[in-house]
Amino acid sequence: MKLWVLGSGSAGNAVLVESGDSRVLVDAGFAPRTLAARLRVIGVAPASIEACIVTHEHGDHVKGASAGARKWGWLLFASEGTVDASAELQEASCARVPVGESVTLSRMTLTTYGIPHDAASPIGVRVTSISTGVSAVVCTDVGHASESVRALCSDADVLVLESNHDDGMLRAGPYPPSVQARIASRVGHLSNRASAALARDVVHRNLAHVVLAHLSERCNDHGIAHRCMTDALSRTRFRGVTSVAMQHGVVGPFLPRAERAEKAVQFALAL
Ligand SMILES: [Zn+2]
Ligand SMILES: [Zn+2]
Repeated sequence: MKLWVLGSGSAGNAVLVESGDSRVLVDAGFAPRTLAARLRVIGVAPASIEACIVTHEHGDHVKGASAGARKWGWLLFASEGTVDASAELQEASCARVPVGESVTLSRMTLTTYGIPHDAASPIGVRVTSISTGVSAVVCTDVGHASESVRALCSDADVLVLESNHDDGMLRAGPYPPSVQARIASRVGHLSNRASAALARDVVHRNLAHVVLAHLSERCNDHGIAHRCMTDALSRTRFRGVTSVAMQHGVVGPFLPRAERAEKAVQFALAL
């Protein structure tokens, strides 16, 4: 399994996960032209993507999903509430997935988890390779670390986790008090501090990558976010690598630990 963040932040989000010859997008929050350009960087044809699952109806997650599905033949999935909240997804015949349930693709399973955010029925997504059992988790746009968020983030091989803002930079930043309050609320976005505390709680020795995502361009700094997370994880069993996703460029590929993937393959072959 390999994962790339094609871009992440309030101007657009998309994560590509590949297992064998199958590919899935978690969110497609860029115009199709931008998505195609980002995919070209890593040599992936948009039409080679099997499916796209949309986490919620905010524009930075859904913008290119319907057009991409029409243009490139992707299967399209979202929670029932997200489809109900998006005329575009309805027009594109997006399949409704009850929150908590899974979708099985040719080589991967997509499992949905409810997350606290100010959208109709937002989800986080675990992508599991059917052949190896390794999994990648995408957890962004979360107001706080609810039980469901903790379950989502547990036991991942690659964890893409929101680290939206520095508390001090948010307070001193350009947003009016109402917007600051929304971002910091329990249905807003996860701060660097809350993200680090969550990661410290769910970390395990096989977690290969923590990729910080959805960083605010106004109220955060890559160095501060990275340091906050690495400080928190330095006192744990974490043996992996912490990276920071970019708004305007691709990062990856991120892979599970080689021994995890190989062991899982041996297990699958033995079945
Ligand atoms: Zn967002
Ligand atoms: Zn959102």
